[in-house]
Amino acid sequence: MVNNEEVIEELKKIVKQKGLKYTEQREIVLNILINATDHLSAEEVYNEIKNQYKESNIGIATVYRALSFLEEVDLITSITFGTDGKKYESNAKSHHDHLICTSCGKIVEFLDDEIEKRQDRIAKKNKFKITSHSMQLYGTCETCSK
Ligand SMILES: [Zn+2]
Ligand SMILES: [Zn+2]
Repeated sequence: MVNNEEVIEELKKIVKQKGLKYTEQREIVLNILINATDHLSAEEVYNEIKNQYKESNIGIATVYRALSFLEEVDLITSITFGTDGKKYESNAKSHHDHLICTSCGKIVEFLDDEIEKRQDRIAKKNKFKITSHSMQLYGTCETCSK
């Protein structure tokens, strides 16, 4: 797990490298996701900003732009569900995989030692060096299966 300040420093470095102007909006969006205990949709990020940063004047379009930027530079990850549902989480969280309900968007995180080890073995057998992986299992949750 990385601490919040390091992640914000990383963002500042990336923005500088890309020759972009530093804007507070991206930092606020990233902060919301770093501190979130759950995976958030763009609307939920927007609502959190309205609650936590009352003076800021960030519109939903800016939130969408900030989210795509942060995903592009690999500071956050999005999880897709249903036809156009999307939820985001900070990459500063420790590694885990996901069970995703395609009906209501519920997301369950899990980490399974056997699966992790098996992936390493498969990679080794194929002379692959793993740099990252994501596993998303899609289906319906208990409530939606009824
Ligand atoms: Zn569901
Ligand atoms: Zn997650």
